[in-house]
Amino acid sequence: MGYSIPLFDLNYDKREEDAIISTLKEKWISSGPKCEELERRFADALGVKYALTVSSCTSALHIALLCAGIQPGDEVIVPSLTFVATANAIRYVGASPVFCDIESLANPTIDPAEIEKLINKKTKAIIVMHYGGFPCAMDRIVELANKYEIKIIEDACHAPMVAYAGKMLGSIGMIGCFSFFSNKNISIGEGGMLVTDDERVYEKAKLLRSHGMTVMSYQRATGHALGYDVVELGYNYRLDDIHAALGIVQLTKLKEDLKRRSKIRKKYLLYLQDFNGVLIPFLDYEGSTSNYIFPIFCRADVSERDRLRSYLKDNGVQTSMHYPPVHQFSIYQSAKRGKMSVTEEYCNGEITLPMYAALSDEHIEYITNLIKKGLMRQ
Ligand SMILES: *Cc1c(COP(=O)(O)O)cnc(C)c1O
Repeated sequence: MGYSIPLFDLNYDKREEDAIISTLKEKWISSGPKCEELERRFADALGVKYALTVSSCTSALHIALLCAGIQPGDEVIVPSLTFVATANAIRYVGASPVFCDIESLANPTIDPAEIEKLINKKTKAIIVMHYGGFPCAMDRIVELANKYEIKIIEDACHAPMVAYAGKMLGSIGMIGCFSFFSNKNISIGEGGMLVTDDERVYEKAKLLRSHGMTVMSYQRATGHALGYDVVELGYNYRLDDIHAALGIVQLTKLKEDLKRRSKIRKKYLLYLQDFNGVLIPFLDYEGSTSNYIFPIFCRADVSERDRLRSYLKDNGVQTSMHYPPVHQFSIYQSAKRGKMSVTEEYCNGEITLPMYAALSDEHIEYITNLIKKGLMRQ
C-alpha cells in the first residue's frame, strides 16, 4: 500500500494463528462453541447479562432496531457524525433517521440539547455513537430517554471496555452494538456483538440472528435437538467459530492494547497540544477511553486541511477522515435534520492520524513534525 506509516495495523501474533489452526483441527467452523465462549467472555468483561455474536455491527444494529420495535413511520435520532451503517440500519426497518448535531469541536459527540429539540411524537429511539471511544453525555441522554419514553441503542463500535459512571459503554442503553471489523479495537475481519440485560430482547435477537429458527445447527449436531420451528422472519446474521476464535484472543489482549493506545495518545498530546494550528478533541477528558482513533481538528480551512493530508501522504503517512457527515450523502440529503453547523465545521477540519499498538515514539514525533511543518508552510 506504499505507506511507511499506515493508519492502522493489526495487533496480531502467533496466538491468533494458533487459535485459527486449533479451530480448524477441531472441525467445527460455523457458529458453535467458540462463538459461545466469546459471548460468555464478552458479557463478563462488559458486566452484562447477555452477549450475542453477530456477523457485523450493521447486523447488530438492524436486530437492535427490530427488538426495539421500531417500525415504518417512526423516527430515530442519530448523529450525522458517524459511519453510514448507523443510519442505514434505521432505514432497513422502514423508519426515518433524524440527524442531530454534535456538541462542539472539542467534544464531537451527539449534543443532548439538540436531541431534545428534535424529539416529537414519532421519535421512538436514539442511537448514540461514542466517537473515537469517548462517551456521549449518557447521563443527560438517559434522562431525556426516560422523560420522553424513548429507547436508547448504543453504537459502541469505537468503545469496547470503556467505563462510564460505573458501567461500560454499550451496557447503558437497551441494547449495545459492537463491531469486530478489521480496523476496530477487537479485529477479526468481519464480525460483531449485540449486548443487553433484557432477557426478552436477547431471546428475540437470537431468533432474528438465525432465520427465526428455534434451534441452531450446533445444538442439532450435538444431539440436543432433533427438529426446529420458525417463529420470526429472521436473517443469517451469525458469526462463525473461526472468527470467534480470533475474537477470544483479541479480547484477552484488549486491556494491554488499550494501555498502549493511551500512551500513544499522551505522546501525540505532548507534541501537539501547544501547537495552535490544530485543536485536539477531548483534550481535557481524563476518563476511560479506547482511543479507537486519534482525531485532530485543523483550524485552517478545508482546502488547507486537504493539502495537509496530501503532504502527509507524500511523506508516507496514511491519514483518514472520521467521518464525511452522513446527512450530506446523496441518499440522505432529503432526510430530516436539526442544525448541522458544528458537524459541518468539524468535518471540514478533521484529520484522523495513525493509531495502533505498534506505533512508536519516533513515528509520532515524525508525524507531528510533518503536521507542524505542513501547516506553517501554507
Ligand atoms: C465500523 C462501524 C460500524 C459498522 O460495523 P460493521 O461491523 O462493519 O458492520 C458501524 N458504526 C460505527 C460507528 C463503526 O465504526
